[in-house]
Amino acid sequence: MKTCRIAALCALATALAFTALAQTTQTQDEEYARLVKQWTTSPEFVSPLVDHLPKSNGVPSPKDVLGYYIGTPKKLTYTADIYRYYRALEAASKRVKVMPIGLTDEGRECIVVAISDDDSIANLDAYKKDLARLADPRGLSTDEAHRVIEHAKPIYMFTGGLHSAETGPPEMLMELAYRLAVDESPLYQQIRRNVIVMIGAVAEPDGRDRYVDWYYHHKINEETEKDRVAGPPYWGKYILHDNNRDINYSQITMRNWLAFYLQWHPPIMHDLHESVPFLYTFSGQAPQNPTLDPILYAELPWFSNFEMTKLTGYGMPGVWTHGYVDMWSPGYLGFMSSNHNGMLRMYETFGNGGANTMKRNVASPEGGGGPGANQTTREWYRPLPPYKTVVWSMRNNTNYMETGVLSALELTSSFSKTVLQNFYEKSRNSIESGKTDAPFGYVLPAGQPDMTRVAFIVNVLRLQGIEVGRATKELKLKEGTFLAGSLIVKRNQPYGRLAKILLEKQEFPDNNLRTYDDTGWTMGLMSHAKVEEIADKSILDAPVEPVDTLTIAGTVKGGGPVLAVLHNGANSLVTLRYRLKDLKFEAIESPYKSGDIELPAGSLLVESSPRVKSEIEKLGLNAVALPAAPNVAKHPVDLPRLAVYSTWGATQDVGWVRYAFDHFEVGYDLIYKERVRQGHLRDSYDVIVIPNQGRGSGKSIVFDIEPKGKPLDYKKSAEFKSLGMYGESDDITGGMGLPGVEELSKFVNEGGLLITLGTASYLPAEFGITREVDASHTTPQFYAPGPIVQAEVLRPTHPIFYGYTDKTLPVRYANGPLLRVPQEDRNWILMRFVGTDKAVLSGLMKGSAETHNRPAIVDAPVGAGRVVMFATNPCYRWQNLGEFNMLVNAILNYNDFPKAPAEKETE
Ligand SMILES: [Zn+2]
Repeated sequence: MKTCRIAALCALATALAFTALAQTTQTQDEEYARLVKQWTTSPEFVSPLVDHLPKSNGVPSPKDVLGYYIGTPKKLTYTADIYRYYRALEAASKRVKVMPIGLTDEGRECIVVAISDDDSIANLDAYKKDLARLADPRGLSTDEAHRVIEHAKPIYMFTGGLHSAETGPPEMLMELAYRLAVDESPLYQQIRRNVIVMIGAVAEPDGRDRYVDWYYHHKINEETEKDRVAGPPYWGKYILHDNNRDINYSQITMRNWLAFYLQWHPPIMHDLHESVPFLYTFSGQAPQNPTLDPILYAELPWFSNFEMTKLTGYGMPGVWTHGYVDMWSPGYLGFMSSNHNGMLRMYETFGNGGANTMKRNVASPEGGGGPGANQTTREWYRPLPPYKTVVWSMRNNTNYMETGVLSALELTSSFSKTVLQNFYEKSRNSIESGKTDAPFGYVLPAGQPDMTRVAFIVNVLRLQGIEVGRATKELKLKEGTFLAGSLIVKRNQPYGRLAKILLEKQEFPDNNLRTYDDTGWTMGLMSHAKVEEIADKSILDAPVEPVDTLTIAGTVKGGGPVLAVLHNGANSLVTLRYRLKDLKFEAIESPYKSGDIELPAGSLLVESSPRVKSEIEKLGLNAVALPAAPNVAKHPVDLPRLAVYSTWGATQDVGWVRYAFDHFEVGYDLIYKERVRQGHLRDSYDVIVIPNQGRGSGKSIVFDIEPKGKPLDYKKSAEFKSLGMYGESDDITGGMGLPGVEELSKFVNEGGLLITLGTASYLPAEFGITREVDASHTTPQFYAPGPIVQAEVLRPTHPIFYGYTDKTLPVRYANGPLLRVPQEDRNWILMRFVGTDKAVLSGLMKGSAETHNRPAIVDAPVGAGRVVMFATNPCYRWQNLGEFNMLVNAILNYNDFPKAPAEKETE
C-alpha cells in the first residue's frame, strides 16, 4: 500500500517539478546524477531539485575541489577543506564572497559565505545598511521605511555543524552554495535576484574536526546500528550540545556568530540539525514566549508548512512540522534571530552520525517518551509519516535538507518584500511596545554590595545589542529612589522585548505543557543581583549616558598595613586568592565592624601592598585598610590541590565547571578514571569535585560508557590531531568501576573533601561513600525543567555561605537527587528546598511538595574527611553565578569546615 501511494505522489511531483524548474540549457553532470541515484536508498528519497547538478565553466563544484561528490558514502570533510572549497568558489564567481568572522578556542576560523547576484555581492555594504535601518527604525518615517524596503534584500542565513555529531549540514551547504552560484534556471535567478544567502559554513569548527577525526578513526566501518560506538568525548573545548543552550554567550565561537548577526541583521536565520526522521521543520509550537511578536508566530508555520507542502508534493515521505521543539526558551543559538526581531528557523534531518549507509530502526523503543517520541505515526502535522525502519544514507540526508532549504529560498524569494516588511514591523513593534506596555524598563540599582554580578548582567545585555544607560542623577520612580549611577534598561528600544525576556520572572503559560529545555532563566535571580522591574513610565525619560561595557573598579579605603577584602559574594574573590597564591590570606569567621564598614564573615585579610591593591581594583572588589588584623576568629585560606573528575561519556557539565574555573582562574587538574584507578588520591589532592554528569544515577558515573568488545581510544596521533585533547585514554569505555569507587572512598576517609554537584550526588549515597545519606528520585508526575526555587539556609555560619546574607536564596533546581539524612544527623544539612508552589520563583516546578524540606546541600563527615553533596548544581551553564560562590567557598575553606553543631543553630 505504501509503495502504491508513493508512486502516485511521485508522478504528481514530477509534473509539478516541471513547472517549477523550467529546463535550462546548462550541461548537467551525468556522473553526479548517476551516483546520487545510486547512493539514494529509495527513489522517493530524492527530489527533482537535487537529482541533477549543472556543470559550469570555470566555477568549481565541490567535486572539483574535494575530489568527491557531496553525499559520497564514508566521506566527511574537515573544516579546512570546506573552507578551501568556499574560497575556490569565491575566487571563481562574482556571486560569492567569503567573510572571516573570528577564531575559535582552538584557533580555527569561523567563516560566513555570502551568495547572491553580482549586484548584491558588489554592493553588500549598501544592503547591510538597509537591514540595519530596518533593524533599528527609530527616526525612520513610514515613507522612508517603504523606500528602504523597496531597495533592500533579505539575508537568509544558514548555519550547519553546530552539533558536531550531526555531520550532514556542512556537507550539504557546499553543494547548495555551488548551485546558488551557477544554476541559471528561473528559480535560482529569482533567489539570487531577491535574496542574499549567507552560509555559516561550520558553526562549531573545533568540534567538526574532532568529530571527523573520530569518525575516520572509530566509526568508518560501522555497518549496523549495533556497531555504532559512542561519539568523541569532546566537540568544542568545553561543551557539546550545550553550545545550543549558551544563553549568556560564554563560548567565544558562539560570540562570533552573535557579533556577526548584530552587524548584518539577517531577517531569517536557519539552523540545520540532525536527529528525528526524516525531516522535521520547526514551526514554533507552544509553549510560546508571549513577549515575542505575533508576526513571528504567524511566519513560522508559514514557512514550515510551505516546505512540508513542497517536499510531500515531491513524494518525499516523513516531512513534518509541529510536535517537537517549542518556542519557550530563548537560549538556543538560532534564537539570536527571533530574539532580535528576525525569524528563527530550524530543521532536524535524519542522520547516521557519519556517512555510512545503514538500516535504521526509526520507531521509538517501547516506553520512549519525551519530545519527539513516536515520530512514525500519522498526525495532522505529519501527513506522510516516516517509515518504521529504513535504510538511510548520507545522500538521503543531503537530498532532504537541500530540497527543504531550496523550498525555503523559493518562498523567501517569492515574498522577499513581505519578509522585509515583517522584519521592519517586528522591530518597530518592539520599540512601540516598550512605550505602551508595562514594564517600561528595568533598574539595576547602584550601590549593591557586589557590583561584579551586576556588571555580568549588563555586559551580557550589551553583548546581545541591548542598550543600557547609566543614570546621570538620582532617579525617583514609583518603585523607589535609585542612586545616580544605577543601570537603566529602557524598553522602548529595538531589543527591548529581549531585555524583558531575559530579566523578567518566567511564568510558564500552561502547567500541562512540556518544553524542550529550561523553563526559567531570570538573570537577576540566577546572579543573585537586584534587578527592579519598573511599571512607572517616566523611566523612559530618565537621563542616562550610554554604557558600552560595564567595568567595576574595586576600591581600597582607609590606610593601614592590613587589607580586609570584603566578602560580598563576588566570584572574583577566588580569582584574587589564586592570582596572589604566594601570599598569606586569612578569612574572618564572623562579621566585624570597622568604623562604619562591616566586614562580612569570610572577608579576607592580607598584607597591604601596591600589587594587592592593584588586583583588588582590577577585580572589582572592595577592601578597607586596617591598622591591625581584627580580633575575631579566623583561619588561613590555603589553596587546595584540586581535581575535577570527569567521566569520558559525559564531559559537558564538567566542561561548564572547567569553563567557570578557567574564567575565575581557579587551578585544578582534570582527572578521569585512569587517575582514580591508580589510587593514592589523597597523596595528590585535597579536594575532588565531581560535577553533575551521567544519566541521573551513581551507576552511570561509575560504569560510564558500555564496553563493546574492543578498546575505544582517544589519543592524539599524526593522523588524528584533534583527538587526545583535554585528556587522553587508551579506552574511554568502562568507567572507574568499583575499584574507582573504592579509591574515592579511601580519599575521603583519609581526610579529603569530596564535592558532588547535582546528579553526581547520587554516587556517594548509592555506593555507600556516605553510609548515612540516601538519595532517591522524584516520581514520574514530578516535572521541573530548570526552574528557580527558594532554598532555606540552615547553617548560615558555614563557610559555604560566606558572602550570602539572606535566609532564603534563589537556586536553580537541577534534577539532582532527593537527599535524606537521618534525624540524628540533621545538622549536616546546610540548606534545604522550601518546596512549595509559592517558593517557585521563576519557571515551572510541577509537584513541588516532593522537594519540601529536602536537603539542597549536605556536609557529611566521613572518616577523617568530608563529603559535600549539592542536590543543586551551583555551576550550571554559566547562568547561576549567584550560586557559584558556594562552590568556591567550599574550595577556598576546604580545611576549615566546622564540626556540625550538636543542635540546629538558632538565629
Ligand atoms: Zn543538533
